[in-house]
Amino acid sequence: MVAFSNGYLVDNLTEALKIRSEFEVTPYAGGTDLMVEAKDDAVYLFLNKIPELRRIYSDDEYIRIGAACTYTEIFENTLTPQILKDSIDYLAAPAIRNMGTAGGNICNASPKADTALIFYVADAKLRICSASGERILPIEDFYVGRGKTVLQRDELLVEILVPKFGLEHYYYKKVGARQALAISRVAFAGLFSTENGIITRFAMAFGSVADTILRFRDLEALFVGKTMTEAKSLRDDLIAKYDQAIVPIRGRVSADYRKSVCMNLLEDFLNQNGI
Ligand SMILES: Cc1cc2nc3c(=O)[nH]c(=O)nc-3n(C[C@H](O)[C@H](O)[C@H](O)COP(=O)(O)OP(=O)(O)OC[C@H]3O[C@@H](n4cnc5c(N)ncnc54)[C@H](O)[C@@H]3O)c2cc1C
Repeated sequence: MVAFSNGYLVDNLTEALKIRSEFEVTPYAGGTDLMVEAKDDAVYLFLNKIPELRRIYSDDEYIRIGAACTYTEIFENTLTPQILKDSIDYLAAPAIRNMGTAGGNICNASPKADTALIFYVADAKLRICSASGERILPIEDFYVGRGKTVLQRDELLVEILVPKFGLEHYYYKKVGARQALAISRVAFAGLFSTENGIITRFAMAFGSVADTILRFRDLEALFVGKTMTEAKSLRDDLIAKYDQAIVPIRGRVSADYRKSVCMNLLEDFLNQNGI
């Protein structure tokens, strides 16, 4: 461990968790969010030299992405699903992608976080560790509001567990002020799968619309287990239900604009899948 005037640099997870439990430190991954509002008196725990946070590997069920892997590393890894690569492709610029991490994107808890949207729709789970143990929780349970998570002051996000299967048939759109280097005004990710004519997966997540990323599992359930013909007959009902459920907040753009874009993207997703 090396102690600097502004924090600690460690080279393994055990040491990082010990420091996290003993001192009031702010985890620092790529710093691309933190440095925008840098505080002079902050004491950082630098995470970028911890091997346990820098690896990408897979087991039977999940692709496991270390929280301090940069976007560039994730993009270049052959295990990374294409839907996640697409979101990285539209995220910031290469300089930010070389420093920014998926863990930082999640822990910053912005509803505009582009990769968090993909982790939401993919049913990803988060492996969170402290010196006294670990817990794994669905990403949806991690957020309690804009900029607010359930992460305890002695915990670190260590890995993102992305299910290996069912991510092939996807729809992803990021709507911003320009084609590149844009923070999303609305982002949408959808997953759709069928088996023997029956819908087995129907999932949608909306980013940049409310205080947290939105997903309505009860509405998704209306289509799961249905035939395509049944889904087509339920289409108008589903659209009406989403129209009621999505209540955007005003930001740089109006709530009405956000609502129209959400509904257009939802319809486009249904059209693309023949519903
Ligand atoms: C010019 C610019 C353009 C950008 N464009 C986009 C964009 O298009 N899309 C987008 O989504 N974001 C964008 N961002 C935001 C930012 O780059 C991302 O959110 C990035 O993923 C943050 O990762 P980081 O490693 O830099 O996080 P950091 O700044 O290091 O940390 C962010 C937060 O997460 C916490 N944290 C980090 N890692 C952990 C961990 N392992 N455990 C616990 N807490 C942790 C930190 O304490 C901090 O609160 C942009 C930023 C800039 C400056």
